[in-house]
Amino acid sequence: MPEKVNLADKIKKQLPAELVHFMQVGGEVAHNQGQSLYLVGGVVRDLLLGRTNLDLDLVVEGDAIKLAQQLTLSYPGKLTTHPRFNTASLKWDRWRVDLATARSETYLKLGALPTVCPSSIDSDLSRRDFTINAMAVGLNPDGYGELIDLYGGRCDLEHKLIRVLHQKSFSDDATRIWRGLRYQRRLGFQLEETTLSLLKRDIGMLATISGDRIRHELELVLKEEFPEKILLRADELNVLKWLHPSLKGNRWLAEKFQQARKLSATPPLELYLALLTYPLTAKENEQLISFLRLPKSLAQILRDSASIKAKLGLLSVPKLAPSRVYRLLYGYSPTAVIANMLASDSAVACRHIQLFLDKLRYIKPALSGQDLIKMGIPPSPTIKELLDKLHQAKLDGKVRSRKDEEELLRSFAPFNSPNPPA
Ligand code: ATP
Repeated sequence: MPEKVNLADKIKKQLPAELVHFMQVGGEVAHNQGQSLYLVGGVVRDLLLGRTNLDLDLVVEGDAIKLAQQLTLSYPGKLTTHPRFNTASLKWDRWRVDLATARSETYLKLGALPTVCPSSIDSDLSRRDFTINAMAVGLNPDGYGELIDLYGGRCDLEHKLIRVLHQKSFSDDATRIWRGLRYQRRLGFQLEETTLSLLKRDIGMLATISGDRIRHELELVLKEEFPEKILLRADELNVLKWLHPSLKGNRWLAEKFQQARKLSATPPLELYLALLTYPLTAKENEQLISFLRLPKSLAQILRDSASIKAKLGLLSVPKLAPSRVYRLLYGYSPTAVIANMLASDSAVACRHIQLFLDKLRYIKPALSGQDLIKMGIPPSPTIKELLDKLHQAKLDGKVRSRKDEEELLRSFAPFNSPNPPA
């Protein structure tokens, strides 16, 4: 008989009282409905590791929506249901809990999402990625806190191992390759020996995964604490090249990611992605954008970054007039500008970009188009030209105050024409 482990104490100690109460009530309501409720996946793993995780994933043997609907009586909040999958999510105060109906999965087509049907907690656990993520905790009153560990997840946690549940795991779903690398780095674990050889064997299965799913995995990688370490490992194992053959996880990338974290403790995903794709040519960039089906705004950042990269030669010229620096960098997304500041080898270019980011981009003339009209210039394209000249003069420090600007303006045509404005 395997040793019985009860996590009730850990639950009480590690999770906020509101969530503990919710799980207890959930277990009671499930029991009254003749159903069984379990806490599953990452949160169980993290309970055992003593790591904070407030993402409660609950699994119901029976009908998750029926349980969630009953629970809204005690926890009035926002209930979202997906009848097709028989899942629900419940939000109240600052909490969110996901409830799914226990299901088994069959992979009919390589790389595609599986077909699912309702099942027991045991078969629900058998479809999971790694032993450490395939544990559950009973929440019904009879057996509250009891750990269900059918695959030795607790033992693998103790030995710091990432292990798949069966030989076909990566070929069933190659996104697990990225997931494995992510957990390995985050938890400081090793890929267990057989798992590592299966991963190497099945790397080619990444070709079966849609760009959307791979993009999702990449986003999760970039949200981790040290994404560069995952990318380095992904490169070593030839996983990264399935994103794009020209991508590199190397020391350069590691340095740039570290520098990005010096600018802000958690750099935005867009900045990391711009750095990761920095070495790509414009054509390769486009290939990656379309493969990953990047959203427009993100694609624009990568394109901006490549355009600025093409101008780095011009930005490396010493003693550029500030207005020239402004013109070279104006209109691009700030993230793309920052990526180039971090990635450029030229100290001069970096200084110019820094000047743009810190100062130049905020400088505007004091006079507006309306002011010029009040000064007697008829509304016309001339107004824009004059404002541009004022802007340039202000960027280059030739005017400082509003009075300076007015004086400068008077020195320009049309003020010097035979019929100056009033
Ligand atoms: P994290 O801490 O990164 O959120 P998590 O373990 O909660 O980790 P999720 O991606 O939220 O991860 O998934 C929840 C659970 O669903 C996992 O713990 C795992 O049991 C299961 N799971 C998720 N993705 C897969 C997959 N591709 N294959 C098999 N099981 C999966």
